[in-house]
Amino acid sequence: MVTATTATNLSYADGEIMKHLRWLYKERRLCQWCQHPKHLPKTKGLCNSCYQLARDYRKKPTDELGIAVSLARREGSIDPVTYPVDGLTIESLFEEVASAVFPWRKITDNPFFHSANTWGENFSKAQLRLLFHEFSMITRERQRRGRRAMAFNIVMYPEKYDKHKEEIEQRLLESKKTVEALFLRT
Ligand SMILES: [Zn+2]
Repeated sequence: MVTATTATNLSYADGEIMKHLRWLYKERRLCQWCQHPKHLPKTKGLCNSCYQLARDYRKKPTDELGIAVSLARREGSIDPVTYPVDGLTIESLFEEVASAVFPWRKITDNPFFHSANTWGENFSKAQLRLLFHEFSMITRERQRRGRRAMAFNIVMYPEKYDKHKEEIEQRLLESKKTVEALFLRT
């Protein structure tokens, strides 16, 4: 229950949280592709992992690498400062992390099912955002390491991604243009 007194305290804490998140994501130069707040850009405005991907693609522009480039850029498109975060977002992140830790667990055996209200009703918007950011440090690390495997799957089993065919083609085109532009720049 939020009383007038705790509301004041909360809003102070919320201000601090938002200041911290803005510093992490808005006030520093981040990797142009993945925008990861801890893997800062080293070469051509990219972090090591994205630059390696760009270099590999430039050497051998396969669909697989093109998709991996696109996945890296998509990670960067989710901005924890502005992304609409609510209780359900946090519930899904708990599930995602749990299924990464216990991949053999039954899908019906989900301890976080219906926990969205608990998050939504007891945490302020800024606190939810902070949780979102902290979780993203886990889920993004996983995506970062799994980009190429995911891209390989999409190329190997195109029938599974058939309904996204146009989107994938569009993304491949964008990856090509982005990498070309990156190496044109001096
Ligand atoms: Zn990056």
